Amino acid sequence: MSAEKLDKSKTLFLRKKHVGPSCKIFFSQDPIKIVKAKGQYMYDENGQRYLDCINNVAHVGHCHPDVVQAGAEQMGTLNTNARFLHDNLVLYAQRLQATLPPALSVCYFVNSGSEANDLALRLARNFTGHDDIITLENAYHGHVSSLIDISPYKHHQLPDAELRPSVHVAPSPDVYRGRYRADHPDPAAAYADDVRELIDRAHEKGRKIAAFIAESLQSCGGQVVPPAGYFQQVAAHVRRAGGVVIADEVQVGFGRVGSHFWAFQLQGADFVPDIVTMGKPIGNGHPMSCVVTTAEVAQAFASSGMEYFNTFGGNPVSCAIGLAVLDVIGKEDLQGNAVRVGQHLSDLLEALKRKHPLIGDVRGRGLFIGVELVKDRLTLTPATAEAQEVIYKLKEEKILLSADGPHRNVLKFKPPMCFTPEDAELVAAKLDPVLTGTGPLLG
Ligand code: PLP
Repeated sequence: MSAEKLDKSKTLFLRKKHVGPSCKIFFSQDPIKIVKAKGQYMYDENGQRYLDCINNVAHVGHCHPDVVQAGAEQMGTLNTNARFLHDNLVLYAQRLQATLPPALSVCYFVNSGSEANDLALRLARNFTGHDDIITLENAYHGHVSSLIDISPYKHHQLPDAELRPSVHVAPSPDVYRGRYRADHPDPAAAYADDVRELIDRAHEKGRKIAAFIAESLQSCGGQVVPPAGYFQQVAAHVRRAGGVVIADEVQVGFGRVGSHFWAFQLQGADFVPDIVTMGKPIGNGHPMSCVVTTAEVAQAFASSGMEYFNTFGGNPVSCAIGLAVLDVIGKEDLQGNAVRVGQHLSDLLEALKRKHPLIGDVRGRGLFIGVELVKDRLTLTPATAEAQEVIYKLKEEKILLSADGPHRNVLKFKPPMCFTPEDAELVAAKLDPVLTGTGPLLG
């Protein structure tokens, strides 16, 4: 199938999946119907097995027995709403806190990444008394209205959507395609300076910054790894203006980057966000999320007179599952696995880059890797249709991958953390002939 045809068929994907005469379910893409999953594999209704390279929700592996057992046992003992104190809640908060810098000491329990980020904005606005938010180009922070407003990732917005006056968009710190690239003498300072300029321009209009929010590594925006030192410099500008820094770890937290438990820690011990939000991997597929912040931010919220209540946030079953996830990450050394297998996969992809001009860039940390496809390495013309073709052909090979970024030309690898060296080798072996058959076809 030609890439052009594929791209066309993509636009024809049913936006509403008909499952019966009177029932429709909304999907943004045509989904595979799956019936079970185990480890790094998913199975469709015909018993066909797929290697899952994209499911960063099944963090410690699909249906991990320890997680299943913890959830089932707790379900049979106690589950209730957030009005009650229970041991799991206290235990979980303590365990989570131990993974974070000591200043981040207060935990709020919610159920999704969107709820976490929405609450983070409320905390920031309440603490600072300011209204405005600085967000990054191509960022995605969630599906609720407050977050769509600050998510310039264009696939979720109407093409002509206008920003609210309280939202300021800074360039994505992308050293491959962005305005300051790897050959710039100091891309971190240059990108941070752009944020400072935004703050200055906002001040000239009488506007004040409540928060800078960013994914510690940008995911939907194309697996972007900000240059070292970027967040420290941005934080200095934002705090000088009376704002706080929110690190969105919804996709990249919980050891995915391997060397550190949190992706913001890649910047160094001298960078501590004021608020950290987390989601997806925290419950290994069970809906659970958290916001962690400083005592000062939390105290200001508590003193504001506002009530905060979330029916399901931190319920006993969620916390039991969350504790089991933390145990498995430690017991199976999944962070170490992310370092080793992530490096192995990166090396294999780098080798493919040397062979296939279609690969413009391989980037990432641990088991969070992006492969950017370009028609031309000098002009960086995005190879969007080719990326769709690669995804389609790998699916035929029973490997699930997705393409994202503003041009949808970045192959995203974020598999369950139990991914093995053999899985990495299989993916590279299947990708090799697919790349051979893709670029030249269109050239
Ligand atoms: N933040 C980031 C970085 C995300 O990628 C997502 C979801 O993809 C969210 C927040 C929203 O999380 P949820 O879909 O759980 O509401």
